[in-house]
Amino acid sequence: MHIVHVSAEMAPLAKVGGLGDAVRGLTKELSKNHKVSVILPKYSFISETAFPMKLEMQFSCERKRISYDVRIFSTEIDQIPVYLIETSPLLDYFQEGSLYLGTKKDIHRFMYFCKACAEYLIRKNQEISVLHLHDWHTALLAPLVKEVYLSLKVLIQSVVFSVHNLAYAGHFLPQDLMDIQYPLEDISSFKEKRLFFSYYTLIRGALKRADKIVPVSPGYAKEILTKKYACGFLSLLQEREKAIQGILNGIDEDLWNPEKDPHIPHHFSKKESVEEILLAKKKNKEALQARLGLKQGDYPLFISIGRLVDQKNPYLMKKGLFYAKKQGAQGVLLGTSPIERTQKAFSKLKELHQTDPEIRFITKYDEPLSRQMYAAADFFLMPSNFEPCGLTQLIALRYGCIPIVRAVGGLKDTVFDARETPQTKANGFSFKKPYAKSLESAMKRALNNWDIDRCKTLVENGIKEDYSWKNPAENYLAVYQSFLQI
Ligand code: ADP
Repeated sequence: MHIVHVSAEMAPLAKVGGLGDAVRGLTKELSKNHKVSVILPKYSFISETAFPMKLEMQFSCERKRISYDVRIFSTEIDQIPVYLIETSPLLDYFQEGSLYLGTKKDIHRFMYFCKACAEYLIRKNQEISVLHLHDWHTALLAPLVKEVYLSLKVLIQSVVFSVHNLAYAGHFLPQDLMDIQYPLEDISSFKEKRLFFSYYTLIRGALKRADKIVPVSPGYAKEILTKKYACGFLSLLQEREKAIQGILNGIDEDLWNPEKDPHIPHHFSKKESVEEILLAKKKNKEALQARLGLKQGDYPLFISIGRLVDQKNPYLMKKGLFYAKKQGAQGVLLGTSPIERTQKAFSKLKELHQTDPEIRFITKYDEPLSRQMYAAADFFLMPSNFEPCGLTQLIALRYGCIPIVRAVGGLKDTVFDARETPQTKANGFSFKKPYAKSLESAMKRALNNWDIDRCKTLVENGIKEDYSWKNPAENYLAVYQSFLQI
């Protein structure tokens, strides 16, 4: 099969969160048996020294009836060809610093990226079994392929759309589509009607036109068919229910491997006994306490890592740390927020607690530190309001760090509560309501369990579980195959 992924993120070239990890992990697994490539925007922050690039193609692509140069560069990640679309500096789209700007301009950037991508695929003129799109940034390609570029409809056998997060929909104005000369008779595909107003979103284009819609966990697939989690797309999603199939994300077990992780001082592996694993983790905890200036000693350590946005419930993350301190345990939070007010509030907490013996708030993006935290900590707090899949709890499990999660979306599919699950399967603690009391009671149960035997069975079950991309990739292949005429 010839599978082409189009995404805004792919680690290590461009990553903000789980999307970047997922695209890398899935394509790496699929490429073991199939021809796979990835198309991304060429962000100016991608280092050409670290990732040598070759110019593949050059053409012009219009916006507002003005022609602009587009150049396609190629590089390789895990031996997978990655094609980077460079838009003209005159448009100043991907030349700016960040992956997402968080402004209206993001719509213009990714709309034009989709158009340039379609024009590139036409010129490349290769048959494609599956065009696999990810999230709103690439959603416009589904209607472009199905409705606009008829020559692509012939080249591309099927379009699959992965929903990593329905909450980001790509709201736009009809004028934005006119700017890229999208035929406006089809604009109703993007329109959501409300009683007194209507609005347009790019994600609707893919939800309507993709052959298959894949939310990133079975739990989330069910949830988005309910009003509470459908983000305003309930009637459309109900219409397309037969095309929806949840597939759980995995993690790249080579990249997230406590046996070889170059950033952690004491390695361990699932081949060792749980006592050996806990001993190595204890030494990692001592190293982390020393690095962060926390009180030295065998205190239970709770951590939380993630974007500080409403989805992750930063308020409860913070509450969890204070509760840990109150219980004589320790807590470390690592996270950044795109929302200025939240980033400021957490920076303030960071200042207030910079010499606290029990807790630390760290407001930066620091992957090596995150790895040291997973390897050192006993418990991982993830009190999300909603969670399409969540990778951090999977990484935590692999690093022997027991997740304490709100039972929602992908967290429900991957974390099995010690009280409610048979001992052979239990790997963490969960709670249902998004309240501090519920989180604290789960933390209390975790601490009781820790006092008895350091939660040995949970650590063992978690670390031995297979959360690799092997099963998810097989599930995706079954989806791809269902479209191919054999
Ligand atoms: P998201 O909703 O952000 O995609 P996921 O749990 O799917 O959440 O994935 C988040 C990824 O980003 C994980 O690899 C996590 O370790 C990483 N991450 C998030 N915030 C930080 C941070 N401040 N420093 C280092 N890594 C981070």
